[in-house]
Amino acid sequence: MRLAVLRERAAGETRVAATPETVKKFIALGATVAVEPGAGASAAIPDADYAAAGAQLVADPTVGAEIVLCVQGPEPDLLVGLAPGAWIVGGLDPFARADRVEAWATAGLEALAMEFMPRITRAQSMDILSSQSNLAGYKAVIEAANAYGRAFPMMMTAAGTVSAARVFVMGVGVAGLQAIATARRLGAQVSATDVRSATREQILSLGAKPIFVENVAGIEGEGAGGYATEMSAEYQQAQAELVSAHIARQDIVITTALIPGRAAPRLITDAQIATMKPGSVIFDLAAPQGGNVEGSVADQVVERHGVRILGFSNTPARLPADASALYARNLYNFLSAFWDKEAQRPVLDEEIGNAVRLTQAGKVVSERLLG
Ligand code: NAD
Repeated sequence: MRLAVLRERAAGETRVAATPETVKKFIALGATVAVEPGAGASAAIPDADYAAAGAQLVADPTVGAEIVLCVQGPEPDLLVGLAPGAWIVGGLDPFARADRVEAWATAGLEALAMEFMPRITRAQSMDILSSQSNLAGYKAVIEAANAYGRAFPMMMTAAGTVSAARVFVMGVGVAGLQAIATARRLGAQVSATDVRSATREQILSLGAKPIFVENVAGIEGEGAGGYATEMSAEYQQAQAELVSAHIARQDIVITTALIPGRAAPRLITDAQIATMKPGSVIFDLAAPQGGNVEGSVADQVVERHGVRILGFSNTPARLPADASALYARNLYNFLSAFWDKEAQRPVLDEEIGNAVRLTQAGKVVSERLLG
């Protein structure tokens, strides 16, 4: 079994899909690993470290490879060295890049989208959305704190008291939980909201205040796999009113709300931003998915009513070393969990295989893409 590790081509992508640590582990399973020179450079991993781990550094690692490891889906013209049946394993962005999925199918490649990993206990260590969202939630708070012209913790000094920043986290999934924890560590007063009522306990357990829509009947907000569902018009109205009242008193707002396969829900309008104090900061983690915040533009600092709105198209890529280390372990945990010693390759089971497989034998086979 030969694995290929590509240098990422996408603009702003700093991560790499394998580290010297995971290269060594794959070799211990019996695989050979070919790494494209420079693959780890932006994650501070020199080629020499891959070589020392046992990797072969080759200009086109796809030649003869049976599995390509990547962070973002490679363009089909990068994969001409692959034989039909070879796997592409990575964050393949299948909803947004259906064209590429079709091209991989036509080339006879088997594309496995790691973001379609089921949210089940045994797959937690393989879950790239969790490992990357966790870092993104941390980084969002750090960036917001950096842009904020005041301190986060309360400070009592001889020159007077500095009051604690008020931080409001909207969307309490993996990123939101880490955002709450990070803002608390920095000493802020933190509140948070979500449409899934199960998050109330989690917010409380982190020492933050839950802000929830009450008395809107029959809404749990939780759909398949623990993900959010789209909410009713009545709920959205109640949520908008609650947020309006709360947001005017916040210094920092971190928004993280996503609904898989759809544009991000709009949580903050321009009129609500206008009620915030000048100097406040909003970090919109959903900016690349259309934004939770009206007017947010990925990779730009937008100023509205004296409030700065930030958001990056690729937040985990701002922590390239840690993001790569965790991502690479996710891929190793996935492939090694299914490693068949006799076949000397991974053989997926039905539950996980059917969830992550996008293409097989020349066709698009993913139920999530087909229906
Ligand atoms: P996500 O990135 O899909 O969304 C972020 C958060 O935004 C979610 O909590 C969601 O409920 C919330 N949201 C959506 N619409 C909203 C709205 N209109 N207003 C406010 N909030 C809104 O979420 P995620 O981080 O991927 O987590 C989704 C679920 O998966 C959670 O229940 C999480 O605990 C679970 N999970 C399970 C595993 C596992 O068991 N392997 C791993 C990771 C996450």
